[in-house]
Amino acid sequence: GYVLGIETSCDDTGIAIVDTDGKVHANVLESQQEFHTRYGGIIPPRAQDLHRSRIAHAYERCLSEANVEPSQLSAIAVTTRPGLPLSLLIGLRFAKHLARKNKKPLLPVHHMEAHALQARMEHITAIGYPYLCLLISGGHSQLALVRGPGQLTLLGDSLDDAPGEAFDKIARRLRLFVLPKYRLWNGGRAIEDAAKSAQNPNAYDFPRPLAQQRNCNFSFAGIKNNSFRAIRMRELLERTPCDGVISNYNDFCAGLLVAVSRHLMNRTQRALEFCLHPHQNLFGDAPPTLVVSGGVANNDVIFANISHLALQYNCRTYRPSKGYCSDNGVMIAWHGVEQLLHDCANNLRYDYDNIDIAGSEGFSETAVER
Ligand code: ATP
Ligand code: FE
Repeated sequence: GYVLGIETSCDDTGIAIVDTDGKVHANVLESQQEFHTRYGGIIPPRAQDLHRSRIAHAYERCLSEANVEPSQLSAIAVTTRPGLPLSLLIGLRFAKHLARKNKKPLLPVHHMEAHALQARMEHITAIGYPYLCLLISGGHSQLALVRGPGQLTLLGDSLDDAPGEAFDKIARRLRLFVLPKYRLWNGGRAIEDAAKSAQNPNAYDFPRPLAQQRNCNFSFAGIKNNSFRAIRMRELLERTPCDGVISNYNDFCAGLLVAVSRHLMNRTQRALEFCLHPHQNLFGDAPPTLVVSGGVANNDVIFANISHLALQYNCRTYRPSKGYCSDNGVMIAWHGVEQLLHDCANNLRYDYDNIDIAGSEGFSETAVER
């Protein structure tokens, strides 16, 4: 069967069709980035207008790309949380309209859970439940034990910023976007690229957040504020023009990547030790597996560092292939497939009016701190 997935939680209109074997039949993604970069950030009513004006067309394109009729769909999956309420509403309203019209079940999807399950689409035999997941994106930084759709236990969360958000703000503060090459890139990607040409990655000092804390939480505000200060100092020192970039920005970016990697590794190490502790052995007999997902998982330096750490615990690391780490309709459709495979037919919902964007933000369960 085919599942249609609709994603409008933030600034991308994503609609995709995936079958129950994990084959992608269509993947339509309309980014709003060029509109929002002009204003230095997302303006929710503007994002809503763009979703509204594009969604029907994206859906038509998706059907024709897949060469699938609405009647052939097994279900319609849609992001219901978390996200910008105005944006979520457009996707949900459209999904309800399609479900009603074609008499299809509607599957509500938790956006972060969809990030967490996405890697299974391409590695279903290698990534069995349960596995540890590091979710690093524009809005979140979390560690969770994943036991199935709707069965995630949160082990750690950000106390302040998310890493992607920090990258985006620091890249903007560095004025990387005035460089023609990076004009339409996201901050994380621009910083990763700039770091490749670094000559001295140790030119700047960055803090080591929460190093003494025996839990799996994250904090990126310190690294971010420290970055702002360091850039300001450097600008004064060099008399950088107010539309210019500091001279050794490559070194700065490389140092920043090291600092973020170090923090993510430190927190992931704690989670691995927690899960592998002989008194719990949360992985059971299965080989320990780590999945890194969310937009920041695109970063090859961060992924290599995390994989290297996990290997010391005999833990293999996976991530969705490029293009599926960041927001897209495929991950929503795939979460729908996982729901069909695990919840079976008894959970199929035709009570469209009871499905809402309201509801709790977090995952189903939360682990107690040790
Ligand atoms: P959330 O999923 O928490 O709601 P989101 O959906 O906005 O947030 P994603 O689309 O998953 O976030 O990821 C976008 C983020 O990923 C951006 O902040 C961007 O800077 C970051 N990102 C993308 N590519 C890279 C990269 N190569 N290196 C580091 N960060 C990256
Ligand atoms: Fe996301």
